[in-house]
Amino acid sequence: MNSHSESTVVVIGGGIAGSEAAWQAACCGADVILYEMRPATTTVAHTTDLLAEMVGDNSFGVWLSTKAQGLLKRELRQLHSLVLDSADQCALPESYELLVDRQQMADALTEALTEHPRIEIRREQVTELPRSGAVVVASGPLTSQPLARVLYRAIGQPYRFFYQSSAPVVRLHNIDDRALVPGSPYDPQRDSGERNCLLDNAGFEAFCAALVEAETTVPEQANPEELLDYYLPAEIMVRRDHHLLQRGPMSAGQLVDPASGHRPTALVRLVPEDTKGDLWRLAGIGTGLPPDEQQRVFGQLPGLEGLEIVRPGRAVRSVFVPAPATLTRSGRVADCGGLFLAGQLLGTANYTEAAATGWLAGVNAARWACRREPALIPGETMFGSLIRRLTESDVSSYCPEPVNFGMLPTERGDAGLSKEKRRQLQVQKSEAVLAEFLAEQMSETGD
Ligand SMILES: Cc1cc2nc3c(=O)[nH]c(=O)nc-3n(C[C@H](O)[C@H](O)[C@H](O)COP(=O)(O)OP(=O)(O)OC[C@H]3O[C@@H](n4cnc5c(N)ncnc54)[C@H](O)[C@@H]3O)c2cc1C
Repeated sequence: MNSHSESTVVVIGGGIAGSEAAWQAACCGADVILYEMRPATTTVAHTTDLLAEMVGDNSFGVWLSTKAQGLLKRELRQLHSLVLDSADQCALPESYELLVDRQQMADALTEALTEHPRIEIRREQVTELPRSGAVVVASGPLTSQPLARVLYRAIGQPYRFFYQSSAPVVRLHNIDDRALVPGSPYDPQRDSGERNCLLDNAGFEAFCAALVEAETTVPEQANPEELLDYYLPAEIMVRRDHHLLQRGPMSAGQLVDPASGHRPTALVRLVPEDTKGDLWRLAGIGTGLPPDEQQRVFGQLPGLEGLEIVRPGRAVRSVFVPAPATLTRSGRVADCGGLFLAGQLLGTANYTEAAATGWLAGVNAARWACRREPALIPGETMFGSLIRRLTESDVSSYCPEPVNFGMLPTERGDAGLSKEKRRQLQVQKSEAVLAEFLAEQMSETGD
């Protein structure tokens, strides 16, 4: 690694977290060097050389701020997150979730970071840590081996692993409205732009049998602790119990087959993937089947006969540090000078959480570089609750888990209120304390 001045913030990894960290550090006035190893060295999940490439779904989760993912997004907007701003600008026509055109979003973010006068982007694999100064490591679940080794030596915590899969993205040349029914299983009346491949009992059983028979890249002897329920590939779910698919990602919800007037046994949801409208993601069907097997198994589904797999699903072994053993509330590693961690390397669960931890590490690395006290996120927010989980959970059982409303503190007098009312109050509280937090930050910097 080339030398750099003490006041420079070095960010390692130009994914979701590293991009946010670099932007926030630069907006706080630091000079930033952002290292990204792609395209010369790539990972098994990335397919482009763009910064902030989304390797899984093209979704930032639900919009509603009375849901945990929605509230965290709202808070990040309030904090001027670059990732959320780009996601909002590249959003596909409104659906239940914030779906984005992933190519457009990564293009926009790459351009914004490239053009920022305080950010220099170096396309190099980092194999050692700078000896001093503020450093944000945001190298993600697929951190390259040499960096993983030096990081382990610096932090001294053994890594943990889990299998994580993404769903295939397919191109459909012809869409048969009778075979691929429009509507959302969650809200059938709403035009969400989705399509659904409906399966009766025999169709569902045949699909499950094809999944069981197909070969998979997930090793049969995988350590059971590495197969977390929330992230199971479809073929592993079905081997355990095919009702897991039927009750989970393939649930028919409230959707009724217009031809028969009956609810189907199960369905495969096709969610739009781009603004042109010819790419679709098989929502929730994460898989580690080899690409030719995906073509064969998913191509048997009614309406998907002519599909072309353009981005195969993948199952990868993701690495993470047991964050509560080492992370402090500022995003800095305890007893490691100016070393900050962000993103899924900490065991965060999704893009929004990666962006949030990137925000915190970027701001506080910039403050560390000019010897200012760290900014600490108020605990009454979803963001603050996420940081509490990353710093205070029981280390022995710590594993990736998405944020949820149960993590937020409730006021004593709210116990008797309905869930909806309680959540509304929690949302209002989060907005108010973040506004105060922002005002304090601005008065400190004189903005
Ligand atoms: C297969 C898979 C599917 C997923 N599906 C979803 C999903 O559907 N929804 C969701 O919300 N989240 C999903 N996630 C989680 C999601 O990836 C993360 O939440 C998010 O991308 C993590 O952001 P990050 O910045 O920590 O890591 P990444 O976005 O992976 O960025 C890390 C960056 O660091 C670079 N890098 C690594 N090592 C080095 C090095 N030594 N030197 C320089 N650069 C380096 C990498 O090239 C990469 O660009 C998925 C993850 C995986 C692996």
